[in-house]
Amino acid sequence: MARILIVEDEARIASFVAKGLRADGHTTTVATTGEDGLDHALSGDFDLMVLDVGLPGIDGFEVLDRLRNQASRLPVIILTARDSVADTVTALEGGADDYMPKPFRFAELLARVRLRLRTAGSAAQAADDALKAAGVHLDLRTRRASMGNREVDLSAREFALAEIFMLNAGQVLSREQLLDQVWGFDFDPGSNVVDVYVGYLRKKFGAETIVTVRGMGYRFAT
Ligand code: CA
Repeated sequence: MARILIVEDEARIASFVAKGLRADGHTTTVATTGEDGLDHALSGDFDLMVLDVGLPGIDGFEVLDRLRNQASRLPVIILTARDSVADTVTALEGGADDYMPKPFRFAELLARVRLRLRTAGSAAQAADDALKAAGVHLDLRTRRASMGNREVDLSAREFALAEIFMLNAGQVLSREQLLDQVWGFDFDPGSNVVDVYVGYLRKKFGAETIVTVRGMGYRFAT
């Protein structure tokens, strides 16, 4: 159970999100302006924030910016219009943890919320919010990957997959687990999207970093 702050001025969306999160066992608080959202976010009373971009007063990006300037590490999932995804990717660099293009199905948002809560829990234990395995270094704060001195360019999805793998380095993860945790919605179980993305990561990190465990799934090397 987590305490989730929802900053969204559209009552219909706020109540849809709040209702779903409460059904998943979380407590929710809704703020409808950027200023109010920021005050709540800085209170230290929340475990995660779902933040709309288009808000009266200061917008979501500004809220995020001010929040990070106050050194808050509160996990933030940005809700954004599909045509502003480019801006949102910039926001990710500015300290958002994830984003959800509108319109979305609740299951998609819930998967991201769960992933962020889990990552926040694990990251809190990891020194300086980084994951290291098999020579790969993931900085969870800046969302950057590197090997030695070489920066490795990853898409948001590749990063999310690498993150799950490295949180569970040395353990076998099934395709279903990876689909559920990284894509988070009802993909056709016959979909080969996991295999395709494992292929992308192998190209970037080296084939030996991800081991195929026949009949079971994949294991990230330690
Ligand atoms: Ca709005």
